[in-house]
Amino acid sequence: MTGQHVVMIVGGAVAGSEAAFQLAQRGVLCFVVEQNERPYGKVEDGLPRWHDKLRLQEEKKIDEKLSHPLVHLVPRTRLGTDPALEEVLGWGLSAIVFANGAWRDRPLPIPGIDRFIGRGFWYQNSFVNAFNHYPEPEYSGPPLEIADNALVIGGGLASLDIVKILMLESVDRALDARGERIGFYPLEHEGISKVLARLGLSLQDLGLKGCTLVYRRSIEDMPLAEVDADATPEQVAQARKTRRKLFQNFLQKYLFQFREYSTPVACLDAGDRIVGLRVAGTEARNGRLITLPGSEMDFSSELVISSIGSIPEPVPGIPMDGEVYRIKDDLTGEVAGLERVFAVGNAVTGRGNILSSRRHGRVVSQHMLENYLAGTASGYEEVLENAASGAAVQVNAVARRIAEQAPLSPEGRAAVIRRFQALQERVGYPGDYARWMERVRLPLV
Ligand SMILES: Cc1cc2nc3c(=O)[nH]c(=O)nc-3n(C[C@H](O)[C@H](O)[C@H](O)COP(=O)(O)OP(=O)(O)OC[C@H]3O[C@@H](n4cnc5c(N)ncnc54)[C@H](O)[C@@H]3O)c2cc1C
Repeated sequence: MTGQHVVMIVGGAVAGSEAAFQLAQRGVLCFVVEQNERPYGKVEDGLPRWHDKLRLQEEKKIDEKLSHPLVHLVPRTRLGTDPALEEVLGWGLSAIVFANGAWRDRPLPIPGIDRFIGRGFWYQNSFVNAFNHYPEPEYSGPPLEIADNALVIGGGLASLDIVKILMLESVDRALDARGERIGFYPLEHEGISKVLARLGLSLQDLGLKGCTLVYRRSIEDMPLAEVDADATPEQVAQARKTRRKLFQNFLQKYLFQFREYSTPVACLDAGDRIVGLRVAGTEARNGRLITLPGSEMDFSSELVISSIGSIPEPVPGIPMDGEVYRIKDDLTGEVAGLERVFAVGNAVTGRGNILSSRRHGRVVSQHMLENYLAGTASGYEEVLENAASGAAVQVNAVARRIAEQAPLSPEGRAAVIRRFQALQERVGYPGDYARWMERVRLPLV
């Protein structure tokens, strides 16, 4: 065989599997390095587990793409630590494509709050991960903390997931304690208020107050609810009104509390645990958000969850521009200062939407939020679709760049394959995707 291009892809989920599939279709040999046993990323660990149909559908798409004969998975291997990027850069690959998503929670800007992580304070990514996996018999992560009266800081779609998890878990447990076995999934499907009305019960009867979502702006300003740039002022006003109404219905269905124009400014602690937050009022002035001095109020709570966004994890050797990787070419996602290293999907923007489809992404997001609030769809269908199509567009540009350079010689290709095979052997990968997945696939809970 003559020379062939060989590419390493970091991350095997929506963006990574799409990137690998697109390149493999063009005859490129792909090795997909994935830190976890299963390559499903946010679909398995971020999408709350009541979206079971959507999860299975998305996992099937990833399985199909990673089963391409030119795609080889290297599971349980974290690029950045072992192997280090510096080492891999010396292997002579045609390209490295980062599709490693956005797994670092944006730090909550309250001095000292991180010392309470796991002791009454959680970030969204680890909280949803614990919620999704704790019913599994072999779950060994931190126990999921649930408390009535929890405070959730956020405002995006993911923060609404957190609120739902807290309310559903609290009510399900309280109903169980009274001998009313409704079940978690029927409760999610029907909504808390309907179930309680049917049983002739209120939250107070269950001894619950409900959690509170604290948002610095108004519900009409939620980040996923931007309106089309061409909209008239009347259309904007109508969209905002509709969204508020839908949100009120959602609030009614899950019975939580909402504080808009509020932001946490300090944590209240009792030595080794968080016991609440000091929250100040805010006001929008000329488009800027002002924290109002003297408006602070203390809220007691055993549990605080921050859901203010996810950003890419820093990887030693990749330059950063604030929260995201420093990119020198928006079209390909080529990383500044590194030859033939690219980043696609959430790894570039910290969000799912790529730059070239941002306008489209906004319009879609508006429907997505409204679907989510109305309960007519999970809200994530379109955003997952956007993540895959965004990665495909970028990888097309990457493929054109790769095609401009000489392929690896047969010896170079053989040497690279040996490197990846050694990594696969180290973790006991049998060399076949279907056989590996049979071993590590989770039973449905
Ligand atoms: C709850 C939730 C919230 C969302 N919020 C938003 C949003 O606010 N805005 C938006 O636009 N889209 C959002 N999305 C959509 C998001 O774009 C898609 O979910 C999509 O899953 C992202 O795909 P990805 O492949 O880029 O990242 P991921 O699904 O995060 O996959 C990355 C993969 O890389 C692996 N990985 C990470 N680091 C390494 C490493 N160093 N070495 C090896 N492997 C590594 C991970 O294990 C993972 O499998 C959200 C999705 C969900 C489910």
